[in-house]
Amino acid sequence: MSWIDPDFPRTTEPTDLVGRVLGLNPGMLTGPGTNTYLVGRSRPILIDTGAGVPEYLPLFEGYLRRRGWARPERIVLTHRHRDHLGGVAALRERFPGVSVSKMIWKDDGLPEGIRDLQDGERVEGEGVTLIPVHTPGHASDHLCYYMPEERALFTGDLILGGSTTVIPDEDGDLGQYLDSLRRVQALGARRIYPAHGPVIDDAPGKIQEYLDHRMLRERQILEALGAGVRTIPDMVKAIYADVPPALHGHAAMSVHSHLKKLKQEARVVEQTGDGAPSHWILL
Ligand SMILES: [Zn+2]
Repeated sequence: MSWIDPDFPRTTEPTDLVGRVLGLNPGMLTGPGTNTYLVGRSRPILIDTGAGVPEYLPLFEGYLRRRGWARPERIVLTHRHRDHLGGVAALRERFPGVSVSKMIWKDDGLPEGIRDLQDGERVEGEGVTLIPVHTPGHASDHLCYYMPEERALFTGDLILGGSTTVIPDEDGDLGQYLDSLRRVQALGARRIYPAHGPVIDDAPGKIQEYLDHRMLRERQILEALGAGVRTIPDMVKAIYADVPPALHGHAAMSVHSHLKKLKQEARVVEQTGDGAPSHWILL
């Protein structure tokens, strides 16, 4: 996949308020790796921690040194997925006492001592403010962070630079996801700092593109159902012909997320069979 860019810069400073250190965990789902952002003029707040790749910590420390910073003031997380909180343990060991917070929501098995951060609970830094925005859909505990000083939005995995977001079967919800996109659309952000891929300078355009993309998929699924295609594997074959087979598992999850939404809206019914894939019928 082209979005796994081996030349993606490991560190950058998009603006004087925002620095970025790459999590060094490239992959199909993570692109060049997870972006971790240092926000503020000094005593920076760190957003996300990467997957816990050992090479991340020296890269992070080198970046702090170049900026003349001793340590992160605090750490906030976008959501519980491993490629965002996997670096917490190593960072805490290196910077004892650093506080770590996220929205605690249907969580078990979190590292000890992670504090709760709720929607709207402002986080103040040096010359910056981060406003957590609950944005479920990709994950039920997902927070974006809005930074009014730049009218910028740290989107975590709600919106990515260079790919679409997976709506996992478990804990994902397409209806909530679309509501979350509309919620951040209303913030009027200009720029997006995604957790994967490059900065997005046209935030309104990208958010609309994401909404349009899901609407297109929904139409394709309704068309396939109308043409008598009944099962998810057959719909994936019909709709995702141009997607590498390695990603068909995720495509199936995406189709399932649409069908669940349509079922909630009473537009399709699901007929479950013994061990066979469900049949989906238009109402
Ligand atoms: Zn995620």
